[in-house]
Amino acid sequence: MAWTRLALAALALALAGPACAQKPEDTEQAGPAPPVVTPAAQPGGAPSDAVVLFDGKDLSEWVSVKDKGPAGWAVQDGAMVVKLAAGNIETKRAFGSYQLHIEWKVPADVAGSGQLRGNSGVFLASTGPGDAGYELQVLDSYRNATYVNGQAASLYKQAPPLANAMRPPGEWQAYDVVWTAPTFTTDGKLETPAKVTAFHNGVLVQNDFALAGPTRYIGKPEYAPHGRAPIKLQAHPGGGPVSFRNIWVRPLD
Ligand code: MG
Repeated sequence: MAWTRLALAALALALAGPACAQKPEDTEQAGPAPPVVTPAAQPGGAPSDAVVLFDGKDLSEWVSVKDKGPAGWAVQDGAMVVKLAAGNIETKRAFGSYQLHIEWKVPADVAGSGQLRGNSGVFLASTGPGDAGYELQVLDSYRNATYVNGQAASLYKQAPPLANAMRPPGEWQAYDVVWTAPTFTTDGKLETPAKVTAFHNGVLVQNDFALAGPTRYIGKPEYAPHGRAPIKLQAHPGGGPVSFRNIWVRPLD
């Protein structure tokens, strides 16, 4: 009955007291409306606002790290394949923070062990020639032991992955990464560290990990100021060749 509801409402008002002076609308945000992004039809596909870095056809978004000339890797069967002689390659574009999707595969007949088995790497920001930068390790870590902060999905020599989510060699693997670029003060001091959240085949492997600086083969990491940077892929002699496909990025700044 209506009067019962009225009585109940009055009781609720009396019990709640001054809090009722606030309205639901007080905590609603009117805008600005988030941009509309059309997701891909297929899982792992590029959303409508992504920059496609490799769609299986050509290396037009990539250059050689050595001389900034054409990237000398092979393109076959819709994938780019590491060519050791051509060395590391990197994107023509430079990025700050971003979301990245990249798929990779070590050959089914991969040989070698430890670090010499399907080794490559995704440098989330290339800070110089060679292997300078922040490496998310690519390696065949399917029943292949090595130091844990050097296995697949590690941030090389800084953070082991939270899980080993490897598929067997010969199968495609996917990394989905949120990269937060480091910031520096005008006089070159670190302001906020680089951070990485990453999924390997949909499994969380890095959770907002704060890097101590660019990853290093030897010695302790240390920051040096830098701005926007390319994304770099490693040509490593350690057992391959590794292939990459379906690479896209969504800049976040
Ligand atoms: Mg590597």
